[in-house]
Amino acid sequence: TVRVRFAPSPTGNLHVGGARTALFNWLYARRMGGKFILRVEDTDTARSTRESEDAMVRDLKWLGLDWDEGPDVDGPYGPYRQSERGAIYKQLAQQLVDEGYAYPCFCTDEELAAMKEEQEAKKLPPKYMGKWATASKEEVDAEMAKGTPHTYRFRVPEGERVEIDDMIRGKVGWDTDTLGDFVLLRSNGMPVYNFCVAVDDATMGITHVLRAEEHLPNTLRQALVYDALKFPRPTFGHMSLILAPDRSKLSKRHGATSVGQFKEQGYLSKTMINYLSLLGWNDGTEQEIYESSELVDKFSVDRINKSPAVFDTVKLNWMNGQHIRLLPEEEQIAMVGAVLVKEGLAASADGEFTKKAVAMCANGIELVEDAAKEVKAILEYPLKENLADDKMMKVIEDDFGEIADAVITGFESGELQAAIEKNEFKGFVNATGKALGRKGKRLFMPFRIALTGRMQGPEVGEVLDLLNTEGTPDSAVSLAD
Ligand code: GLU
Repeated sequence: TVRVRFAPSPTGNLHVGGARTALFNWLYARRMGGKFILRVEDTDTARSTRESEDAMVRDLKWLGLDWDEGPDVDGPYGPYRQSERGAIYKQLAQQLVDEGYAYPCFCTDEELAAMKEEQEAKKLPPKYMGKWATASKEEVDAEMAKGTPHTYRFRVPEGERVEIDDMIRGKVGWDTDTLGDFVLLRSNGMPVYNFCVAVDDATMGITHVLRAEEHLPNTLRQALVYDALKFPRPTFGHMSLILAPDRSKLSKRHGATSVGQFKEQGYLSKTMINYLSLLGWNDGTEQEIYESSELVDKFSVDRINKSPAVFDTVKLNWMNGQHIRLLPEEEQIAMVGAVLVKEGLAASADGEFTKKAVAMCANGIELVEDAAKEVKAILEYPLKENLADDKMMKVIEDDFGEIADAVITGFESGELQAAIEKNEFKGFVNATGKALGRKGKRLFMPFRIALTGRMQGPEVGEVLDLLNTEGTPDSAVSLAD
């Protein structure tokens, strides 16, 4: 069965790149009826924190990505934190030494620095050229007996070619001569990244390694470790980069990049899953809106794209609006209601006012917060004052003079208010239009501008109805009185 993993380093927040990697692995596991494993790569003790691990777990759960094995879900291949797997790395490093694939290296930092300098001077490739690659057993034993600090180095085979059949990029190959003998374990016993990743993937029975393109150069070392340990290599797949719209690397200066930030800004987790799924994948159709269960049905690694994906907030926002509208009405009311109450714009989260506000805004918003902005603008618009304010009227007068007059006359006589209260605003507008021989925008726009102060927004009739609704906050500039 398929076994895939997401292997974050807990040194910060979960970013969209990591979330996409997690999602694609999760989709693949769920699609194939396989297992999805969470492995915490915390060997960099200086930078790894438990808070960061907890935050990543929280964000993954918020996205709805669940794992079958991980630090908090027992499984047969644990432990699932690299910091707890030291004995395994040590044992396998020893096995490699015993079989001649690795050797202890007693070079001091000074010796290594001198070696590097000499190589640079002679324009030689930076490879390990120290004596310990070929030292005799006696020499090694003598240092061991003295307790001299040492690393373990992998003996890179000479003149070989390593090739992988990448699921996304096709054939990728390297000459082993491009690589020097690399360190597996540091002198403090800490494993080096490429060693523990290969050991973990091998001993955890990982069948497919699906990860970001930036890890492609690591694959040569990892494949060599696999071969030396006599584990079958997994199938690798390296996903393209995620770029900003200006095609530079996506970074903080482009706005939110972490899952937690998007959550705080009010994006739905459904939107994030849908949006991330299309960063480098499509199902071959034009479809853009997916529920997560549908993605599980349709996902296939064959359709992962190898060209870079662009993270476009405009599209993300549009998609969030789509997902808001797909929610059942009660959920929309609950979500928008909570925001309205929080902002002091409604007394109850599910009262008549909130329901009408949701009905009014549901079709136009992209973020739930947009509804609050909309309602706030309506409530704060000084309708009565503006109707009496020459400046405001001047704005619409030139083009819409007669209508402005009609609005004012209607307001002064109380006819307009009466029509609004009786829910006959449309009738009033139509009658005005008929009397003045105007239709369409030339009829509606002046009403809109006069009554809401804006050229766009929800239907004017709905706005006025909302202002007439029981539960409208006192802060609203009321129509009557
Ligand atoms: N821990 C690595 C990272 O966070 C991932 C390693 C891998 O996927 O092989 O970038």
